[in-house]
This record gives sequence, structure tokens and C-alpha cells, in this order.
Amino acid sequence: MNAYSEIAKSLKLPTGACIDGQFVPAKSGATFETRNPYTGALIAALPACGAEDVDVAVAAARRSFEDGVWSDLHPSERKQILGTLADLLMANVKELAVMESIDAGKPVADCVEIDIPETANAIRWHGEAQDKLYDQIAPSAPDTLALVVREPVGVVAAVLPWNFPLLMMAWKIGPALATGNSVIVKPAEQTSLTALRLAELALEAGVPPGVLNVVTGMGPDAGAPLGRHMDVDALTFTGSTEVGRMFLEYSAQSNLKEVCLEMGGKSAAVVLSDAEDIAGIAKTQAEAIFWNMGENCTANSRIIAHKDVYDALVAELTKQVADWPLGDPLDPATRQGPLVSAEHFDKVSGLVDTGKAQGARVVAGGEGAGGLLFKPTIFAEVTPEMDIYQNEIFGPVVGVTCAESDEEAIVMANQTQYGLAATLYTASIAKAHRYARKLRAGTVGVNTYSEGDISTPFGGFKSSGFGGRDNGIHAHEQYTELKTIWIDLSA
Ligand code: NAD
Repeated sequence: MNAYSEIAKSLKLPTGACIDGQFVPAKSGATFETRNPYTGALIAALPACGAEDVDVAVAAARRSFEDGVWSDLHPSERKQILGTLADLLMANVKELAVMESIDAGKPVADCVEIDIPETANAIRWHGEAQDKLYDQIAPSAPDTLALVVREPVGVVAAVLPWNFPLLMMAWKIGPALATGNSVIVKPAEQTSLTALRLAELALEAGVPPGVLNVVTGMGPDAGAPLGRHMDVDALTFTGSTEVGRMFLEYSAQSNLKEVCLEMGGKSAAVVLSDAEDIAGIAKTQAEAIFWNMGENCTANSRIIAHKDVYDALVAELTKQVADWPLGDPLDPATRQGPLVSAEHFDKVSGLVDTGKAQGARVVAGGEGAGGLLFKPTIFAEVTPEMDIYQNEIFGPVVGVTCAESDEEAIVMANQTQYGLAATLYTASIAKAHRYARKLRAGTVGVNTYSEGDISTPFGGFKSSGFGGRDNGIHAHEQYTELKTIWIDLSA
């Protein structure tokens, strides 16, 4: 048994929703189960919150916002508290990594090295930024002072997905808290444990009660009431495009709250005729699709290769997965754990079967590997009409498509409803610039697979995004309102 399995046995798991600084059951007393997707074992029963719990959480957030216990702090005081929270996250990195791993099936090594450090970094980065930002004075007449200031929007709700539970929480609460808002988080029902633990650490760091609340529960029961709430000022969501659309409806049906949506993707890697180092590209692209079990919104689930490099690329990619380490996520050697749930496993398997039926050729994988493990799967001869080309699979499945020309490859890359990210391989600096601009995606990596980092805005074109960006200083825009203060100086 390795050290992480030992930690798993002695974990102290949260049991209550975090409302106004207290860890409480749902008012109805109802609970839902969260299970380990690798072993199937029951991990915890968590409060199945509903509209009445959401009301209490929103009231706590509103009270704390209006009291000014957080919103009126000097930005440097918020910075200091968020820095302490980041320190506490890192001090508990192994515990949080194991909790995330058993809850989501994510390889523990990734959680230790990527998810938890990036979570801490996101919170620290936004806290650090806050006391270095200035507002503006508009060019008005000498007898007028026109101030353009940014103010916190007020009460923010954040509805989260299950693929990067802590990190997606940090992408939302980092800028929302740094700018002085009070927040209610609704984590995904599959993966709520670390959100509750983060809320506990936030209280320890000095975030006042009511400023960061976590309501656990199902989407329609706990997420929809936040979306429809008359006293939530802004809602930020990461998840599927299908559910994202609902939040626009909820907003229209209630108080027209600001809505920012980060949604699905079907990102393409475009390999042009002059691309160099096909073996290196294959290695990077294997990571780009199979990392995090392919449960990654920017996963390059399509590779569009010029006919001159297509065969070599398919061959090199196939070599990459020959001994891809699949298995127990608590084993540090594991690179791919189980899919998050049986329901999701069935969705992935179903789409793979559709790919086979529609004529794509399986060159690797194509089936489960026991339990909820799914073999890294490579399809060749994929064409734009196929479902596996158009639909987000959100599993370890990549389709390779052959293009007759570089121009056709770029056109094909844009041929889906999504526009989250894209990758471009070329040896030509001119083609790199020209085609990076042609790709309809929020992030374009050139000769690398990248989402950028905390300093760069992240979000999607088309049906992948709406209303703003996560990350970078640009993220602050979704959590602040612009105000003009026009002062008569003539008297
Ligand atoms: P999902 O849309 O099923 O669920 C997301 C959240 O919405 C969960 O908290 C869920 O409980 C809630 N929800 C579900 N139904 C709801 C309803 N009727 N009303 C209100 N809330 C509801 O998404 P998921 O399966 O958790 O996550 C996977 C999706 O997230 C993928 O499409 C992926 O691409 C996307 N994603 C996008 C990004 C990004 O930044 N663009 C990042 C990570 C994941």
C-alpha cells in the first residue's frame, strides 16, 4: 500500500454544506451519496440542498456583502487573507490531492503536482493583483471630474463541473473574492468534497462567515435556484453547453443577473504540411487528449493532419498509447484513472460505438478496460459529418482527420459549434501568425498544446463561451460593475 492509500484511509471527510460559516445538513435532511469511481465504494453522504438552503446561503452572502466585512476591507487585507488561504491549501496538498483523487478518479500525481498547486496559485494571483489596480479618470471639461470606477457586483453564485473540482472553484472564487464579492459555490454533485474542505480552510485563513458558502446538491435542486434567485447579482458557470444555456434562461426569467459561461469544447490540433518532429507532436497530442482521462474541456479530441504527414502521425500516435499506464488513481505511476461515473462511462462508450458504426477506423483502444477504466482510443479516417467529430465525448478518445491542403485543414478545424481552444503545428512563422488568427477559438497554441496560464484570459468562442473570461485580470470584469461618478467642480 502506498502513502496515498494510507492517507485515504485516515481522511477526515466534510459532511455538511457550508452556510454562513457553519457546516450544516440540508433543511430537508436529505442526502446524496458520493462514490469512489475506481472502487465503487461509498465515500460520503452529503447534504442534498434545495431552494430553501440556497435562500439561507444567499441571505448570508448578502448580509456579509452589505456589512462590508469583506467588501470594505482594504484590498491589501483581502490579499493577505487570500495569500493565507493559498498557503493553507499547499500545507494540505497531499490530503486535498487524495480527496480529489478518490472523488473524481483523477491520478493522484496530477492532483499533487498540478491541480492543488494551480488552485493555490490562482487564489494567490488574484489576491496579489487586487492592490495594484487603478481606476480611471475620463477626459472631461476642467469644471467636471469624471471618475470611472469598478465596484464588486455583490452576491456571486458559481456553479461548477466535476473534471477539475478545486481548480475550477479557484478560477471563480479567486477573482470573485479578490474583487470584494460574497460567493455561493455549487460544486458538481459527483465531486463536492474538496470544495467543502476549501471553504473550511478559507474560514481558517480569515475569510469572514457568509463570504464563501458552499451548497451541495443536484443541479436542478441547488443549481437552478441559484440561477433563478432574485438576490444573486452574477452567476458564473463552468460545465456543459446544454446546461449553460439554461442559466441564460434562468437569468432572463428572474433578475437579469450577469451570466458568464465556460462550456464544452471539441478542440482541434491542426498539423500543417511543413510541421516538424511528427514523433514529438504525437507525444504532445497524446497528453493533450489522454491527460485527465480526456475529461478536459480543451482536450484536443480532433487532430486534423495534412495528407503529407497524416500516415506518420497516426503511426506515431498509436505508438504513444501502447503501454499507457491505466489503473488505480492512488498509484503515483498511474496516468489515467477511471471515468468519473458509470453514467459518463456509458456516454463515452456509446459515442465510440457510434464512431465505429459510422465508419471511423479504430487504431487503438475502442473499449473499456475493466470497471470505469476506458482504454486510450484513437480513431483514424474520421470525417466532419461523423458524430465523433462534432460532439464532445469528454473521454480518452481522439479522431484523426486527413486534409488535402493546409487551407482545408483550417476550415475543417472551425467546422463545429465549439470554439474553446486549438493547436497549430507549422515550421513557418508566417503561417503561424496567419492561421492562428483564422482559428475560431479562445486560445490557440502554436507548436505546443497550452491553455495559457493564470495570467492569460481563458474562454471560448461560439457555443463554448459566453459573457466573459476566466483567468488573467480580464476575469475581474465578470465580478465587477463599472460605475461613472460625474462631479461638478464649477461651484
Ligand atoms: P454539467 O453541465 O452536467 O454540470 C455542471 C454543473 O451544472 C454541475 O454543478 C451540475 O450539478 C449543474 N447542473 C446540471 N443540471 C443543472 C440544471 N438543470 N440547472 C442548474 N444546474 C445544473 O457539466 P459536467 O458534466 O459537470 O462537466 C463537464 C462539462 O464541463 C463538459 O462539457 C466540459 O467541456 C465543460 N467544462 C468546460 C470548461 C471551460 O472552462 N470551458 C472547463 C471544465 C469543464
